[in-house]
Amino acid sequence: MNSLVVVGASLAGLKAVESARKAGFEGSVTLIGAEPHLPYDRPPLSKDFLDNAEPVVPYYRLRHEMADLGVTLRLGTPATGLDTDDRTVRVGRDVVEYDSLIIATGARASMVPGADGLGGVHTLRTLDDARAVRAALDAGARTVVIGAGFIGSEVASSARKRGLPVTLVEALPTPLVRAVGPVMGSACSSLHVANGADLRCGVAVSAIEGTGSVERVRLSDGSVIEADLVVIGVGAAPATDWLEGSGILVNNGVVCDSYLCTSAPGVYAAGDVARWYNSTFARLMRLEHWTSAQEQGAVAGRNAVDPTNAEPYSTVPYFWSDWYGSRIQFVGVPEGEDFEIFGSVREGRMLALYGNGDHVTGALALNRQPDIMKLRALIDRQTDWREAVAFAAKRATSWLG
Ligand code: FAD
Repeated sequence: MNSLVVVGASLAGLKAVESARKAGFEGSVTLIGAEPHLPYDRPPLSKDFLDNAEPVVPYYRLRHEMADLGVTLRLGTPATGLDTDDRTVRVGRDVVEYDSLIIATGARASMVPGADGLGGVHTLRTLDDARAVRAALDAGARTVVIGAGFIGSEVASSARKRGLPVTLVEALPTPLVRAVGPVMGSACSSLHVANGADLRCGVAVSAIEGTGSVERVRLSDGSVIEADLVVIGVGAAPATDWLEGSGILVNNGVVCDSYLCTSAPGVYAAGDVARWYNSTFARLMRLEHWTSAQEQGAVAGRNAVDPTNAEPYSTVPYFWSDWYGSRIQFVGVPEGEDFEIFGSVREGRMLALYGNGDHVTGALALNRQPDIMKLRALIDRQTDWREAVAFAAKRATSWLG
């Protein structure tokens, strides 16, 4: 095994490179990235990068630090094809050979049909997107956010912090249902209303019309909203188009076993693009969370350079989101019939537990960082529902008056 190639120069890709080197791999390492930038951190793009007086680009490592890793960087040109028989990746006119390959191409933000190319309409996935959104906020944009998911909510929060008028348009009757269930979706989205955003649920976008200087957002209820900035936050899709014809099994992401091995020998996947067998929940999962992307990158990097000692990866999913000065954290899955809440959004502190009639499956915390990781451990151990509720109740008595 002489050469490792990693496609996707972001969190999972960089962690893969770092862990391959940490595992003692001395062969050649090539990191291929579609964006022209060095790997950077995405979560701040919808938080500090929009809020701080001076936006700082959150690069993970500077160029000389990348050089210390002994990695050949091929930035600014996407991989366009993969031949798993010849073990080659096509990049522009070049063909890059590999012994082991890691697919870490993440996900791409979805667009509302017909809105692409309108000057005031942006998704928020990349540094370039964030720069455009930031510039519009700096100019005092009247803002419409399509999709009241986590990224849309963070943008709305940033715009409201600046005192700008914000309308959030959500097609579902309650935001965030898939991510945290209906009760918590409703509770979390009440933060928008409390902070002066105009939240409109159960309405779809019929069209976005550009007039040159102002965008007009037409909704299914017949209303029209004028905006200087429209941010589309309707989700993301795994970036797998370049794998077409490669024979790699793709089904809502690159399908992997618990070792992050894809259907082709010597090819691994990690991060938002990977749909892998998570033995903790005994099912295939694809997450779009920072923590799992970096952990998967590290595991895939080690497994790729030392396959005889390969280790499986399993986890209790974890993500966080920051809105209006509050931190929302979620662990596990929002499944099951059992549900308990302690505290409330109004009190500024809240814990919610989800259970399946037997054990605890998920937990949400609002401004309760000390509790959430303990709950994550209880979910990992498949702790009995009543025991988990007793734990949360005890914690809550320490912070509820
Ligand atoms: P990505 O970060 O998507 O990187 C994939 C890279 O591959 C990209 O640079 C892309 O250009 C490149 N690429 C794609 N196709 C090709 C190709 N054919 N050839 C070469 N390169 C290619 N998670 C949380 O848990 N909490 C948060 O608060 C949070 N906030 C977020 C805020 C924003 C604005 C965004 C966008 C994401 C946020 N996330 C958050 C999610 C987290 O950032 C992602 O889970 C993480 O970035 C995934 O890392 P990745 O390396 O798998 O993929």
